[in-house]
Amino acid sequence: MTILLVAEHDNAALKGSTLNTLTAARQIGGEIDLVVVGSGCGAVAEAAAKAEGVTRVRVVDAAHYADQTVENLAVCLAQLAGSYSHVLLPATSFGKNLGPRLAALLDVAQVSDITAVVSADTYERPIYAGNAMATVRSADPVQVVTVRPSAFALAATGAGNATVEAAPAGPDLGVTRLVTRELSTSKRPELGAARVVVAGGRALGSKEQFEGLLEPLADKLNAAIGASRAAVDAGYAANDTQVGQTGKAVAPELYIAIGISGAIQHLAGMKDSKVIVAINKDPDAVIFQVADYGLEGDLFEIVPQLTAALG
Ligand code: FAD
Repeated sequence: MTILLVAEHDNAALKGSTLNTLTAARQIGGEIDLVVVGSGCGAVAEAAAKAEGVTRVRVVDAAHYADQTVENLAVCLAQLAGSYSHVLLPATSFGKNLGPRLAALLDVAQVSDITAVVSADTYERPIYAGNAMATVRSADPVQVVTVRPSAFALAATGAGNATVEAAPAGPDLGVTRLVTRELSTSKRPELGAARVVVAGGRALGSKEQFEGLLEPLADKLNAAIGASRAAVDAGYAANDTQVGQTGKAVAPELYIAIGISGAIQHLAGMKDSKVIVAINKDPDAVIFQVADYGLEGDLFEIVPQLTAALG
């Protein structure tokens, strides 16, 4: 049994989601090959070789992988995947985009967004927006599996000494071209990996109030900022801050939900947080049902008081 783990990276650094996915791979067992497909991505391969539990790093380095267009990546990986029992990818935007294309090329079913490994062919995954957990077994010869990063700890790095080998590139299909990439930059911790998340909902009322109230609190707690979909749709917060079924799944040590009702689609992305604090003026808000601590009242009064009390 040999697993092919697909690295998520930006040609310069390995993304943490790869190390979460490596932990899932180690739970499945067997040898683990980590594949880095990119352009000028030697530093990523060197870093990947130090991750504990990786046997071999396979590097596919070609100019047409510079922008990581998934059409090209999927064909390249399909060429490599046939000799593996599993192909694992993180269930991030990257893996969600790539995994189904790869599974289709291999003519197998993808097992999506696993949160636990039961055995080498059996996994747990949330269904119905996290309202139920399904245990699924795959009978496919190559199991294409996406892994929810927040459900698995980061694998250790530093002590690994995998070999690094070149692997053949696939064709440049030329069917897509990256025109522009707009990245929001932030000094805050990355939402998916933050220990503390301060999240705001529609009740914040405007972008100015969202930022004016949440950022000072997040600064005090060294927290990432999250948002409900309603807050994102209203333009109060950036798209990549959305938490939930159609946003990110997070499981920080502390999640502070401010003016968020607790719709099932939002809970799907945050209810595995260790401690949940909810601030809401409606005593019947669903968020209080999952909260460890509830503050009932007007957020425009409570949040500044909380921020001031943190010194
Ligand atoms: P609201 O439902 O409007 O709630 C606002 C809350 O603020 C209320 O509870 C209210 O009591 C409280 N409030 C108002 N004023 C104050 C005040 N002054 N002080 C304190 N509290 C106050 N949503 C997500 O978040 N993430 C997703 O990924 C997501 N995916 C979806 C996918 C699908 C297919 C669908 C159909 C929906 C999805 N949604 C998602 C939307 C979801 O159903 C809800 O509409 C959304 O989460 C509501 O956001 P909200 O809680 O900010 O707003």
